[in-house]
Amino acid sequence: GEVSTKDLAWCQQVAVRVRPLRADEGSRIVHVVSDKILVLEEEADYRRDVLRQRRLNDKQYVYDRVFGEDSTQEEVYEAVCAPLVDDTLRGFAGAIFAYGATGAGKTHTMTGLMTRALNRLFTAITESANPKAYEVKMSYIEIYNENIRDLLNPGGPLELRDEGSGAPVVAGLSEVEATSAAHVCELLTRGDRARTAEPTHANQHSSRGHALLSVTVSTPVEGGTQRGRLFLIDLAGSERAGLRARRLEGAHINRSLLALGNCIMALSGGARYVNYRDSKLTRLLREVLGGRCRTAMVAHVAPGSAQKETTRSTLHYAQRASSI
Ligand code: ADP
Ligand code: MG
Repeated sequence: GEVSTKDLAWCQQVAVRVRPLRADEGSRIVHVVSDKILVLEEEADYRRDVLRQRRLNDKQYVYDRVFGEDSTQEEVYEAVCAPLVDDTLRGFAGAIFAYGATGAGKTHTMTGLMTRALNRLFTAITESANPKAYEVKMSYIEIYNENIRDLLNPGGPLELRDEGSGAPVVAGLSEVEATSAAHVCELLTRGDRARTAEPTHANQHSSRGHALLSVTVSTPVEGGTQRGRLFLIDLAGSERAGLRARRLEGAHINRSLLALGNCIMALSGGARYVNYRDSKLTRLLREVLGGRCRTAMVAHVAPGSAQKETTRSTLHYAQRASSI
């Protein structure tokens, strides 16, 4: 289960999206400076510098892309997702991760990306020389407490099986043939209702597991089948487990995020070997984390002082992931 990073054409984009400030979230501490830079306002250090206290500790972060609170779904789609959708049509695999604390805007972004990605896929297929030659299949799962659930056909947990050298297989997972963007959106809406949601301090209806949408586009080519695959992954809330009583659940979430972070780190930071066996999330994504494909992460933050700690840790995680 180990892949040398030397063989990989690894390409990665890390973006941060700041959602609009709400009235009950304190003062604004996240400032978007440009489309690549944002600043997190820190407490002034009174002991050291009385005159320049406002700017003393502020931290600047640089990413491939920063989306401010006025950013549109279309803008985020064009910058982050559109290139991966085109790759999928050309037979490559790609993945987009939404990262961030509960309430920071992950699902909002992913919903926008999903609908646009599928619209683009079906439009491109319809306009192609031979639309009938394409087959689009999708699956939608949730990983919650290291259990895999089928969101398109909710039931008991499904088993993840390693089949030889290929990607692991989720036994019994429904793969639905998608016929139009509207059809897919209907399936997704149904799937979202099946996501595990429980009250937390941050958001009454936060989704507590990772949601993975997989869209596979197959078409016959000389000597076989060309298969492109796009994963859209709405990660579980990244807030620290210790903030809540549900320790076990938090531990599982963090384990997946940590493993994912380590994978991304190892692949981008020049480590020679990557261990994919750490969590179900990374096992399932082995194909994209270790293959010739593009990945992008959109980290989400709220701009208010009320979320300072989670915002800082999100910005930090995203920066580590982007230090290619
Ligand atoms: P998460 O999935 O990270 O828990 P959500 O996507 O559910 O967060 O967002 C929390 C709330 O903030 C929702 O009501 C959502 O509609 C709103 N929201 C998030 N991002 C934006 C944005 N960029 N613009 C406007 N509203 C947003
Ligand atoms: Mg959500």
